[in-house]
Amino acid sequence: MPPSQKQTRLRVAICGAGIGGLTLALALSEYQDIEVEVFEAAKQLAEVGAGVGLFSRPWKVLQMLGLDQELLATTDTKPRDGPVSSFNYRKSNQPVGFQFSTLVTKGSLILLHRADFQSVILNHIPKSCRIHTSKRLRTFSQRQAGPIQLVFEDGTTTTCDVLVGADGVKSATRATMLGERVEWMRSQGREQEAADTALCIEPAWSGQVAYRTLIPVERLRGAAPRHEALTTPMQYLGKGGFVITYPVQQGKMINFVAFTFRHDLEGTQFPGPWVGPGERSKFAHVFADWEEDVQVLINCVDKTLAWAVHTVRPLRSFVSGRVALIGDAAHAMPPHQGSGAGQAIEDAYLLSRILGHPSTTPSTIARALTIHDSIRRPLSHRVAQSCRQAGRYFSFELDPSELMPRVDLSSDFGIPRRDSDEWDCLQRLHANMVRIWEWAWTTSVDDSIQEAQRLLEAMT
Ligand SMILES: Cc1cc2nc3c(=O)[nH]c(=O)nc-3n(C[C@H](O)[C@H](O)[C@H](O)COP(=O)(O)OP(=O)(O)OC[C@H]3O[C@@H](n4cnc5c(N)ncnc54)[C@H](O)[C@@H]3O)c2cc1C
Repeated sequence: MPPSQKQTRLRVAICGAGIGGLTLALALSEYQDIEVEVFEAAKQLAEVGAGVGLFSRPWKVLQMLGLDQELLATTDTKPRDGPVSSFNYRKSNQPVGFQFSTLVTKGSLILLHRADFQSVILNHIPKSCRIHTSKRLRTFSQRQAGPIQLVFEDGTTTTCDVLVGADGVKSATRATMLGERVEWMRSQGREQEAADTALCIEPAWSGQVAYRTLIPVERLRGAAPRHEALTTPMQYLGKGGFVITYPVQQGKMINFVAFTFRHDLEGTQFPGPWVGPGERSKFAHVFADWEEDVQVLINCVDKTLAWAVHTVRPLRSFVSGRVALIGDAAHAMPPHQGSGAGQAIEDAYLLSRILGHPSTTPSTIARALTIHDSIRRPLSHRVAQSCRQAGRYFSFELDPSELMPRVDLSSDFGIPRRDSDEWDCLQRLHANMVRIWEWAWTTSVDDSIQEAQRLLEAMT
């Protein structure tokens, strides 16, 4: 049927053109009877220059969306199905560090540059999907019947049948959604519940700052021709922080992130702008006594972009009526299992299948969205918890009962013998890290999609 004669079943507004919003726009473009408009606050679509790693679950989604070959052309990663060595772990908080384990995943961790990811996905989004920039959502209102009204900061308005808040950790969609819920709870005298819900409106600082940059490979090679980070994804661990590196842009650049941790400040307000220039002096002191390989990397860094890592406290629901939250807007988590973007991609794909199902119509949307919530919320909350715990492991913030009380990982104990308590302790640490991470490569999105399908059929 020519486009002019197409019947529109649903009008979907996506607020935010980040990884989640764009994936949703593309996934919905398969459905001829869904009209999609994307509203992005920024003046232009430009991703921050840094890397992103994707495990097999979101990678499978990108394959289903037909993006895999073009994405692979932008990276050095050669996807493999079997066991793959992903990251080498070193104890680096001592003058002579050492490798104590390697993370072996099932299938490769695909390492991409964010700008590449964005341009590939934009190439696939059809012209019929309108992407508006400089459109920052201020608020929305939905009544029992009739369309949802969106109000933007520039004073303009529009309407839609379904609103998807893909507007990141500071989500205006979440603020309106929870704000309404808080008012309603107060009107019912449910003061404690209202106070708990209000706490979820603003993101919480994790006590962590990530200093991110790209190091030209030639610079690192010039400083240390045999540096392991030139070829291998690495994590340099120690008390109070860690450094992660991996090659991107077909090996031309090394993605570098130094994390600093103040576990005691978790849940407090970050003093200062959340994102801004991060001079080397702001983080180098945390790693001052660490091994030479870390010093070489830090010396190759000029400027970084410093991100104060914020999270969203666990929400009781990702949906309200005909409005849904996806990605960081719903469940921003620390990035320590490389899964925030992956979770946004999974959310987007599942939601597209739910909205695309013929039984989802303006009158059934609210019920259909509860299916999305019932499947995605428990899973992403578990992932967020694991990411938090992984950060504690990487920065040696351990409950002494968890490992070996006699071993102090913050101290310099040289290179331990294989039969020592120190070595044993590090092997237990590694086993714990794998135990909480293996969901990323041992499970798949298929079960969620089938479950959604089953619940949608039951709805009709
Ligand atoms: C240091 C670091 C490393 C990371 N590494 C990884 C990794 O390796 N793997 C991984 O999976 N994840 C990683 N993540 C997490 C990942 O970046 C995020 O989870 C992911 O970008 C979330 O995507 P999103 O689309 O939900 O939100 P975002 O990417 O934040 O996009 C939100 C969009 O909404 C727009 N917007 C905001 N407010 C409004 C508004 N009011 N109206 C309209 N538009 C609005 C924004 O401009 C933005 O374009 C990392 C994060 C950090 C900080």
